[in-house]
Amino acid sequence: MSKRQAKKVFGLIGRNVDYSWSPLIHNTAFETIGLPCVYTIFNIAGPELVGDALRGCRALGISGFSVTIPYKKTVVPFLDELSPEAKAIGAVNTIVNENGRLSGHNTDIAGFAAPLMPWADRIRGKRVCIFGNGGAALAAVEAFRVFFRPSSVLLFVRDLNKADEMLEGYDHRNLVTPCRTGDLDLPLGEQQLQECSVIVNATPIGTVGRMDAVASIVPSGRELFHRGQIIYDMVYNPLETRLLADAHAAGADTVSGIEMLIAQAARAFFIWTGREMPIDTVRTVLMREIELAGAVCRR
Ligand code: NAP
Repeated sequence: MSKRQAKKVFGLIGRNVDYSWSPLIHNTAFETIGLPCVYTIFNIAGPELVGDALRGCRALGISGFSVTIPYKKTVVPFLDELSPEAKAIGAVNTIVNENGRLSGHNTDIAGFAAPLMPWADRIRGKRVCIFGNGGAALAAVEAFRVFFRPSSVLLFVRDLNKADEMLEGYDHRNLVTPCRTGDLDLPLGEQQLQECSVIVNATPIGTVGRMDAVASIVPSGRELFHRGQIIYDMVYNPLETRLLADAHAAGADTVSGIEMLIAQAARAFFIWTGREMPIDTVRTVLMREIELAGAVCRR
């Protein structure tokens, strides 16, 4: 591809997100297919600048964005339209600019669901649980509702008020039962966990480089988890967290956050380009880089 050729520009909107793997994912995909596109990071210093950024993107003709912490909700009032998924949870992780008209989508929902599809029958009508009360947790709730129809979703949080905040304006909050993580130490809490067909970590606990990098949301997971359960960690660095290692040891099935990371990116890629992401190539490159970065971090 000629270096003089004008390229379509895509980027990630977030704050302090230089650590993101999205440029590697999308640029690998663009290069593999040979599309004249480039993806970069736009760190926006505060929410008061988000409107200016999106007005500027119309003027500059930036083709699209991914959106991450802490702006998935902030961008919403500045967009011209929202997809039904984005509307359902009031959060956008993908923006498309079509001739100055900005539409917001949410690919976290389908991206979360994708790696669970082979187990759909095991989930339907059963109880599931999610740890966390952030945007990722709400995307997981909506994914369960739309794709898997569980009987209920237990939401384990540190602060019940925050669960209320998360569910404010969500039309299907009846599906969700908030519980305190503190109650997990009680026999009833343990029993509730054991009865869940899927247990999801939607907190950053276990991420490389954090104080709690070797911790797990379920410290006694090795004894509690069992065959037939699916343990899903949204954390993707390291590829095998303590939570997933415990699940493995207990004979449960596991899903690493890398699967969601790739699946949500692939959907955004399709929305922007109309092309399928070359997932196998992207996965190989990404896993190699994550392993390298983790090794550097642990050194
Ligand atoms: P967020 O809005 O910042 O929410 C983080 C959640 O984690 C909050 O509920 C927070 O609880 C909880 N939390 C943080 N530290 C905790 C601790 N020590 N003990 C218990 N709970 C704790 O973030 P988010 O956007 O929802 O993302 C959550 C995680 O999912 C992040 O690690 C993110 O990287 C990951 N994620 C992965 C993908 C993927 O594609 N694999 C996609 C989206 C998100 P409090 O409110 O009580 O602090």
